[in-house]
Amino acid sequence: MSKYETVIGLEIHAQLLTESKMFCGCSTKFGNKPNTNICPVCTGQPGVLPVTNKKAIELAIKTAIALSCKIEPSSVFARKNYFYPDLPKAYQVSQYELPLATGGHIEIEVAGQKKRIGIIRVHLEEDAGKLVHQGADRIMGSDSSLVDYNRTGVPLMEIVSEPDIRSPLEAKAFMETLQHLLQFIQVCDAKMEEGSLRCDANISIRPVGDKKLGTKTEIKNMNSFRGVLKALGSEEKRHAEVKEAGGTIIQETRYFDDTTETTTGMRSKESAHDYRYFPEPDLVPVEPEGAWISEIKKTIGELPEAKKQRFETECGLSAADAELLISSPVLAAFFEQAIKLHDKPKIVANWIMGDLTAYLNENKKAIDEIDFTPAQLVEILKSIDKGTISGKIAKTVLVEVLKSGKQVKDVIAESGMTQVSDEGEIIKIIKEVLKHNPGPVAEYKKGKKATIGFLVGQVMKASKGRANPGMANKLLAKLLAES
Ligand SMILES: [Zn+2]
Repeated sequence: MSKYETVIGLEIHAQLLTESKMFCGCSTKFGNKPNTNICPVCTGQPGVLPVTNKKAIELAIKTAIALSCKIEPSSVFARKNYFYPDLPKAYQVSQYELPLATGGHIEIEVAGQKKRIGIIRVHLEEDAGKLVHQGADRIMGSDSSLVDYNRTGVPLMEIVSEPDIRSPLEAKAFMETLQHLLQFIQVCDAKMEEGSLRCDANISIRPVGDKKLGTKTEIKNMNSFRGVLKALGSEEKRHAEVKEAGGTIIQETRYFDDTTETTTGMRSKESAHDYRYFPEPDLVPVEPEGAWISEIKKTIGELPEAKKQRFETECGLSAADAELLISSPVLAAFFEQAIKLHDKPKIVANWIMGDLTAYLNENKKAIDEIDFTPAQLVEILKSIDKGTISGKIAKTVLVEVLKSGKQVKDVIAESGMTQVSDEGEIIKIIKEVLKHNPGPVAEYKKGKKATIGFLVGQVMKASKGRANPGMANKLLAKLLAES
């Protein structure tokens, strides 16, 4: 690809976390029986009037502030006219000429390089319904289709990036960064696999050094971060091959097929005028007052990038560790609560990212789906510090608490796993070990001091891991010197 430069712009649709739809009171709940979350407004019956959902505007403004956009003093809903069976009104209410917010940016990082990607606009719109194709997963190859209007009218926020993205990797980083941000400020659950975060891409290539943009194609159906990477990777390659063969790129919409990891042409790209946009006469413009915007601004907590920086500078974590902890707002909050109770950030971070995460991955659960609190983790860590249990036993205690849901102190007490710090008891074990290992003892006496490591290991084994390792070491050295 050295001869060409790739230019990518992304359009992201994020489903806003509201209880009700964009212009009616119907529930947005996912997974209900088809066509049960519907009413005359969202199914486009004659004579009904829509009312804008204030919460949806609030969440979109919150996002726009977090993306450093300018909130427009007046934005207008418009009808985007087209016919499709999943669109009962035959138009989608969206924002066109006058969007809610404009001109922001977000910072991404690829291979240690930071880069700022511009945001052209953030606007509000409603979702369409869902076609369920019979006998195939898409319309091609299907003999009939059913329509479910539960999703019709669900509030969406569209975020449009500047064509500042230069590679599929940057596009993936953009999506991941945006996902973190939306989750952190709690405007969208941003699950690509479940469709609450969707993305279309415009991609073109041009000879390196050229300023003029090449003809672009629009890619749809990228349902995962991997999909974004594969779809754009295959499309930039296709553009280069067409150009190399002396052909021309046709401006069109292309569909990404997850199984073949290639794109195929769907339809020639329509232009904005094909939609005959005009202002929605049934809705008033959105004109948020300054005081309200200030209120919304106050609800934005610390943004992920700032949190990451703070974890590095204040808590002394490595960049990689900080990155992992901010990968989910719930995980980051768990860490922060734990270090409030136990001021040893590195140790706390290691336990969260080590044993706790391993358990979560194994059981395919998120940290907010289990009944385990930061206080419980801290209780385990403090038991190690006090010498009640060894670090090794603590790992077993953690898993037992996670599995059983019992109290930490009960698990420790019931299991008989408390650490042995009684000198007499440890000496008894050591004497047994020395008796059964005459060879290593002799080697130690001949001057091979490293043998003590093996003997300590035997003491730990004989005590089933319960002997206080520090004491075992000290007492062993003492007894060896005396014998
Ligand atoms: Zn409705």
